[in-house]
Formats: sequence, structure tokens, C-alpha cells
Amino acid sequence: MTTASIVDNFPALRQSIGDKSLVYLDSAATTQKPQSVIDAVTRYYEHDNANIHRGVHTLSQRATQSYENARKNIASLLGANRPEEVIFVRGATEAINMIAQAWARPRLVEGDEILITEMEHHSNIVPWQIVCEQTGAILKVAPVLDDGSLDIEAYKSLLSEDTVLVSIAHVSNAIGTINPVQELCAFAKEAGATTVVDGAQACGHLQVNFQEIDCDFYAVSGHKMFGPTGIGCLLGKYEVLQEMEPWQGGGDMILSVSFEETTWNDVPFKFEAGTPNIAGAIGLGAAVQFIEGIGYETMVSHEQELLAYGRGVLENIEGVTLVGASEHNAGVLSFTVEGVHPHDVGTILDHAGVAIRTGNHCAEPLMRRFGLSATCRASLSVYNTTEDLDRLGLAVQEAIRILG
Ligand code: PLP
Repeated sequence: MTTASIVDNFPALRQSIGDKSLVYLDSAATTQKPQSVIDAVTRYYEHDNANIHRGVHTLSQRATQSYENARKNIASLLGANRPEEVIFVRGATEAINMIAQAWARPRLVEGDEILITEMEHHSNIVPWQIVCEQTGAILKVAPVLDDGSLDIEAYKSLLSEDTVLVSIAHVSNAIGTINPVQELCAFAKEAGATTVVDGAQACGHLQVNFQEIDCDFYAVSGHKMFGPTGIGCLLGKYEVLQEMEPWQGGGDMILSVSFEETTWNDVPFKFEAGTPNIAGAIGLGAAVQFIEGIGYETMVSHEQELLAYGRGVLENIEGVTLVGASEHNAGVLSFTVEGVHPHDVGTILDHAGVAIRTGNHCAEPLMRRFGLSATCRASLSVYNTTEDLDRLGLAVQEAIRILG
């Protein structure tokens, strides 16, 4: 697939907002879905709709096979050791909450420390605050430098024998910084900490290899990598998952139940209580195949070209300031416009058919770090073009002309 023809796979991109063709620059919030993913979900409901793991009838067997094939596809794309290391969840948020409640809560004691960074999404802050409240553990935060990169020296100095768990974003959703997670996890491990990587913003852009990063847990968001909403994964090292207690109780996660004693099913089913999002998992499996059809190498080079082009477009507009535009960036243009509130910029851009995100991007502490309450964020994906970024530039100039 060439980058020019990739856009043809996305039906939602073939529409107009008013009389302007849509320019979608909000992929960090959620990516558009290729036809193959939409078809996989539809096919499941039209032909194979049945519950999984329980039925002996044909439909149930087909549904089970598609669901388990999706698990295998994800394991292979993201470099898990085995499919059993992939647990289906609602998304990265649920993955992190599961680790907080099922792994951290039973293990943490008063005075233990959890280390995160200043660039985390609220999903990688609040679950740790909750578990600190429950256990008396302390949340530590590694600072971000002016260019939007992590202060690695400060991060290292915050690691100690009290650090029980480290949880870091692979890619920042608000400014796009790519963290050197393999290196950061190695430092954490030297200190004896268990490691979590929030990969919500990574898997739709970069080649992720769970084994090479060598973290204990990796959180994946399906809807940010061309899959359906309401599906994601928690990747966990098999031996760590075996030791971890279940999070939710219910059907499918048990081997046997009696009023006297209940025993748990094997990993990963121990963590998949109840009927899961079967269609979502199958759709995510199709998203994996879509990514493999393009290849991460093509995606990275296309998005890096667009990022450089987009930075050029915005830097040439007087009154526009890029925020946290670090060298290693996965395709996020976060910016402010002098004298114009980001929400007003976003509204004018919408009238011009250009969809961006404005606000604190669920990263309030990071906004505060830059002395801001909000930014405008244009986030790129493989279906974007330089024309999209020219349209962004023109629309920002229009916003300045009207409101600046
Ligand atoms: N972590 C980061 C960095 C994110 O950008 C997001 C969503 O924006 C999340 C976590 C939450 O992901 P999900 O929507 O899959 O729960």
C-alpha cells in the first residue's frame, strides 16, 4: 500500500464539514477506522455472533477462533513472548487500573514509592493516586524539560530502594514526546522496581517490541491504532501474570466454583471475567493486519516527514508557538496562538473543515508545567498529507485574522 492510497481505506475521511472537505488531525484522540476493521466487526455480527469459550456449536467455535486469532495477531505485532501474555481489556485506562488494583494494591505498604513522569495522561496518574490512598504509598514525579523531553537525570535520581513500581508513557499524548522506555525500564529494574509502560499513543505509530522493552506490563489502546473503541490490551510477562491475583470475578475467569472454594482459570482467562468485547477484539485483530499491510517503517517515515512539514507551516505563522516540540516526537503538533483561546481556534478550524483537539488533553499537570491551561493539538496519522497541514496553516491564519 502506498501512502497516497492509504487514505482510500478510510470511509469517514471521505466527507465534508459544511462545504469544506474534512481534514482529520485528531488521531491522538482516536484514529479513523479502515474499511477492513469495519468489515471484520460487521462480519462477526452478521455471520458468527455467539458467545466465546463456552459453546460447542459452530457459531461459538467460529467466534472463539476469531477472538483467539486476534490475540495471536496482537502478540505477534507487539513482540509478546506468547499469546497468553495478551489480556483483552476496554483500553489503556482499564489496563492501568487493573495493574494498580490487582498487582500493586496487594503488594504496596506505607512508604513504598511509585514513580511516574510529569507528562502522563490522567489515566496514568489517577489510578496510582487511588492505590496510594488505599495503601499509604507515595507518588513521585519525574520532571519534564523545557523542550518537552523527560529529565532523565532527575528520573534516575528519583529511583531508590523504596521504588516499587515505575509507570511511564511510551509517547505523550499532549506533546508527542517519545520516551526511551527500554533505557528507562532498565534503570527502574536496577532499582528493583516493577515496570509499566503506557503504550496508548505508541502502537499506532511505532514498532513496539514488548520483549525488547523488557517491561513487566504494557498498556495498549485499540482505538488509537485503527481498532474499534472499547477494546485494548494489557500485555504482561507470563510469570508476573501468573502471580497476579484476579481483578474482577465472574464467568470465564474460573476453573471451578463452589460455595466453599473457587479456583482460577489460567492466564489470560483469569483476567477476562464476563463476556468480553468480542467484536472489538476481532476488529482489533483486523487493525493489526492493516498495520502489517503498511508496515511501521512506512508509517514512521511518512509521519516524520509530515511532522517536520507541519512544524515548518506553524512556525512560519506569527503569533504561533509550538509547545514541547522535542526532537523525538511521534507526530503531535501542540501549539498556542497569541491572544486567542485554544477553544476559539478549534471552533474556527472546525468551520474550515479542520478537526483538531483543544484543551488540556487529559494531561493537566503537563499543561501547568508549561504555564498553560490548554493548547491546540494537531495529531498526525498515516492517512494525513502535506495538503492537510497546508489547510491547518491557512485555518490558523484565518483564526488570527478574525480573533487575534
Ligand atoms: N494514556 C495515554 C497516553 C492516552 O493518550 C490515553 C488516551 O488518550 C490513554 C492512556 C487512555 O487510553 P484509552 O482511551 O484506551 O483508555
